[in-house]
Amino acid sequence: MEYYDPKIETMPLRDLKELQLRRLKQVVRYAYERNRFYHDRFKEHGVKPDDIKSLDDLKKLPFLTKHDLREFYPFGLFCVEIDDIVEIHASSGTTGKPVVGAYTKKDLEVWTEVMARALWANGLRKNDILQNAYGYGLFTGAHGFEKGAQRIGAMVVPISSGNTKRQIAVMKDFGTTALACTPSYSLYMAEVAKEMGFDPKEDFNLRLGLFGAEAWSDEMRKKIEETWGINAHEHYGLTEIIGPGVVSECKYKRLHINADHFLPEIIDPETGEPLEPGEEGELVFTTLTKEAFPAIRFRTRDLAVYYEDVECECGRTLPIQSRIKGRSDDMMKVKGVIVFPSQIESVLMGIEGVSEHYQIVKERKGEMVTISVEFEPTEERYREGHLDELEKKVEDELYAVLNLHIPARAVPPQSIPRSTGKAKRVIER
Ligand SMILES: [Zn+2]
Repeated sequence: MEYYDPKIETMPLRDLKELQLRRLKQVVRYAYERNRFYHDRFKEHGVKPDDIKSLDDLKKLPFLTKHDLREFYPFGLFCVEIDDIVEIHASSGTTGKPVVGAYTKKDLEVWTEVMARALWANGLRKNDILQNAYGYGLFTGAHGFEKGAQRIGAMVVPISSGNTKRQIAVMKDFGTTALACTPSYSLYMAEVAKEMGFDPKEDFNLRLGLFGAEAWSDEMRKKIEETWGINAHEHYGLTEIIGPGVVSECKYKRLHINADHFLPEIIDPETGEPLEPGEEGELVFTTLTKEAFPAIRFRTRDLAVYYEDVECECGRTLPIQSRIKGRSDDMMKVKGVIVFPSQIESVLMGIEGVSEHYQIVKERKGEMVTISVEFEPTEERYREGHLDELEKKVEDELYAVLNLHIPARAVPPQSIPRSTGKAKRVIER
């Protein structure tokens, strides 16, 4: 059983597009008729539901932004009565008011379905024991994983994040086979396991890592896989769309978009003009089946490439998106050069003697932004000394990739704060 839903996951592209168009027409009419915001916005743009005759007509519709969602906080954008909402979530709101995600019974059914599809594609099965170490609460993460895993029939351990020694004890005693949390937290857990006298690779039953909610490089993925001796999978999602479950990563580590529910587009982040599949730009999603609040042309601010009509060895025909290069919010412009934290991470992870603990220090002097990197060498490398040589190596490698001189400083092991949730990679001083 390779697929959770063979009919959808291996549907020919032409049939998928037909399904998408049918659903798009429905959702546009639904939003226009039931939601004052969409109604007015469509009118302003001179577009009516009847104008949507092909998928290409999508571009006639206005975008939806985070700003719109915040403006109508908390319940102003719902398309159903409050009475029909059965679950509610919210983003952490670190950069302003939180964004609220609401679900009707049918929305929860869709969420459970796409999460089950995603976890199945990762290789999670009924006999697995999933330690769910995402934070339980308003954040969507933990709840999505729980719903999908239980649908498959796996055992869920709802331990939430934090209390790391207890995590390790539970992992050992319960025989956890799959771990769900942020990638950085999984490495912190490995560190604590070692302190407790365990060998993360040998002493546990862990075989799968289900990671998300953080941008992480392929090099970081390799590091995690080697440390725990597991297969680590990426999960991608957004509160505005549904939470995790937007994509299903197959065993070949390609991110298949669940495009029967979430219609992807790539646009030029500057002009908003649609780009062709294969070109890098900002991901935009339209939810095709959501009731409580359908997102129509939501700008994610995430940069990626999207491909359709690709043949993946796994046999899925669902379109593919690349891993996220970065949020356009994370993009730094240093002396005219565009730098993403993930680029720095992948350089650091490729250098022997450099651990996975690092921070990018951003300093602003008027209009000028400068950055430097602080990293922890591995314990062994730290004891060896001559750290100036390692610093020089880091600077040279960063220069080779970014063509930018970024000062690097080795700091003692354990001096960069560990995180049980989203790691803070960039700090401003
Ligand atoms: Zn695949």
